[in-house]
Amino acid sequence: MAINVLFSANERSWPEYRDCLKSNFKKFKLNVELKQHFDDPTLVDYIIYAPTGNFNDFSIFPNVKAVLSLWAGVESIVSNPTLTQPLCRMVDEGLTNGMVEYILAHTLRYHLGLDQQILQQDGVWRHDTMITPLAKKCHVGIVGLGCLGLACAKNLRQINFSVSGWSRREKSIKGIDCYSGEVGLNHVLQNSDILILLLPLTNATKNILNANTLSKVKKGVKIINAGRGALIDDIALVSAIDKGQVAAATLDVFTSEPLPSNHIFWQHKQITVTPHIAADTRPETASINIAENISRSEKNLRLLNLVDRFQGY
Ligand code: NAP
Repeated sequence: MAINVLFSANERSWPEYRDCLKSNFKKFKLNVELKQHFDDPTLVDYIIYAPTGNFNDFSIFPNVKAVLSLWAGVESIVSNPTLTQPLCRMVDEGLTNGMVEYILAHTLRYHLGLDQQILQQDGVWRHDTMITPLAKKCHVGIVGLGCLGLACAKNLRQINFSVSGWSRREKSIKGIDCYSGEVGLNHVLQNSDILILLLPLTNATKNILNANTLSKVKKGVKIINAGRGALIDDIALVSAIDKGQVAAATLDVFTSEPLPSNHIFWQHKQITVTPHIAADTRPETASINIAENISRSEKNLRLLNLVDRFQGY
């Protein structure tokens, strides 16, 4: 009998996902009926889900064995009371590589002062004053040392940045100074020249950068937020920049998206806005993850990347 899989995500992404999923279901020897709609929701075995899809009431799918999120961040679905089935988040090679490239680019931009180099095309030869420092002198703190944070940490380390990371659970990773707990967070805040946020949005991480924590950062820190907008208190950030405590920020994610055109972030000279493009789930690679998880579930094996509902990520 076929396994019924409902695809509920952005309509535009359907043709590409359909082809990639079908080819990976085949590779995993899964006999799957993949559709965007089932007349009888009780027949659905798995849901491939993104919040851009067209429903959020999971109670009409009583026989679903797992909901497989196309997004790494699950804050908009994890507390949905109608969702009682296991929820898996997306871990995808394409997504991870995209995030590494974004973080490396923006870290190097700040580290090398690329803005100054690009903008000062004014006929003045600044050979002696335009200094290019080495990465080993630059301390990068990564707040959130999970799939994405760790991949970024390792790549930054590879090009000699001095890297610290902060996570909920204690970790020991070669070449990276790992911290956890409040004392650990303070250490990372106080010692980072560039601070990168790659946390999920949960009750515990909301507004983690607020007036209090921003008062503890190393003066002149540059912040890159590719986690979620609500990790930062917007007003406190602008105030910390205006006071000179924070030198600049690159923000990819916002409390409200799309970021309203009159939002102060767009106008602020020391803030760079990117429109939630740091990293995208790639159908080619994400489909492997989904097919593998369905295959595991059908064999009664533990699902990969299962969300801990209590922790919220
Ligand atoms: P992940 O593997 O679940 O890692 C999350 C990290 O945050 C882990 O290190 C975790 O600690 C840590 N953490 C969670 N709660 C914490 C707390 N209360 N205190 C301290 N550390 C805490 O997630 P991921 O795949 O790396 O993704 C991270 C986030 O990136 C996603 O949730 C999403 O919001 C965002 N994202 C953004 C984009 C974009 O385009 N901008 C794309 C994809 C994802 P433990 O290691 O101890 O569990």
